[in-house]
This record gives sequence, C-alpha cells and structure tokens, in this order.
Amino acid sequence: MRVLLVEDEVRLAENVRRGLAAEGFVVDVVHDGAEGLFQGQVNDYDVVVLDIMLPGLNGYEVCRRLRAGGVWSPVLMLTAKDGEYDQADALDLGADDYLTKPFSFLVLVARLRALIRRGAPARPTVLRAGDLALDPARRTVRRDGAEIVLTPREFGVLHVLMRHRGDVVSKSAILESVWDAHYEGDANVVEVYVGYLRRKIDQPFGRHAIETVRGMGYRLAAGGG
Ligand code: CA
Repeated sequence: MRVLLVEDEVRLAENVRRGLAAEGFVVDVVHDGAEGLFQGQVNDYDVVVLDIMLPGLNGYEVCRRLRAGGVWSPVLMLTAKDGEYDQADALDLGADDYLTKPFSFLVLVARLRALIRRGAPARPTVLRAGDLALDPARRTVRRDGAEIVLTPREFGVLHVLMRHRGDVVSKSAILESVWDAHYEGDANVVEVYVGYLRRKIDQPFGRHAIETVRGMGYRLAAGGG
C-alpha cells in the first residue's frame, strides 16, 4: 500500500511516516504543495494524505489540480480546527475524507485502510444540456466546444441548474447549495450571479438557456437554450 504524505511540519511528517511504515505502508513524504502535486501526478498512490496549509500551493489547490488532471487516488485532508478552510470545503474540492489536527495516529490508520478498501472514487459524469457541458471533475464548462471560464460561485450556480435542468430551482435552493448554509446576506446575490452567468454562457452565443420564472426561481433549458 503506497501512501503519499504531503505535510510541511517536518517532525509530524516524520512521526507519521515512521508509524505508517511500521503498519506496512510504503510512504513517500514531501513538504510542499508543488512537490505533492508533482508526485501525485507521476506516481500511482493507493491513498494521499494532504495537509491544507502548505507552502507554495495549499492542499485544496493540490487536490483540485490532481482531480482536474484525472488523478483519482483517494485523498484524506488534514484540516486545522481554526483554519481558514473547513471540512465542507475539503469534500467540495474532491477530498474523500478529512481529519482535524491534532489527530490520533490509530484513527488515521483506520481511515486510510477504509479509504484504500473503498478504492478510487468514481469520476462524476459530465452534465449536458444541448451543447452546454459541465464537467464536475475537471471543473470546466464548455459551450459548443469552447471553454468558458467561470468563478467558483458562478460554477456552483450553473452546477445546481444543470443538475436540475428542465426544472425550476428556487433562489433559496441555489443559495443553500452554493453559499454557506449560514449565509445571512441578501438572497438577491443569486440574481447577480445568474446575471454574470448569462453574460458568459448565453449572451456571447446568442442563447437564452437560463429562464427567470417569476416568483419561483430559475430554469435551465434542458436543450441548452
Ligand atoms: Ca501545514
């Protein structure tokens, strides 16, 4: 069982490496994100343990880029309780599990074994509405083959609409799935983002895929508009 450990705290990394080696794992240790990304891309690991706060490239970015590059080794993220990011972010970005620091070594080993048993996660399928295609794994959007660059929020809104293409999705449902569940701001933020999306996925192509259903929400035409 081959493990990639990406952790910049050298002493912690060494303790974990030694412990895992004693449990029969073969462990490669790197101390920064760029090197972690490189090793994860060129080698075939059974599981990757990825710290979040890393010099250079943070763990989220490493995970996102691994997935975008088609690497589907299970990823366990090490998150800090008071960190800038949380567990939900970790899972959103393609991690399969997370552990909050400080963690028990026994729990880490149990989680790694569980992830290895489960194997690589299934790659999510590309969603299509006519010539509009959204790839949740690579986080890309194309219209008629042309790549459209979206911000993470724009992508999130489109993702919800694509998952329910042909159906009306309420503003509050979009808010809940794209913004934090505790978002206290103005629900009109959804309107603003739908406007941004239209300017990117519809207007340049002379389409009207996103329909406003007054008093109800938005509907993405199943045929892509
Ligand atoms: Ca760190």
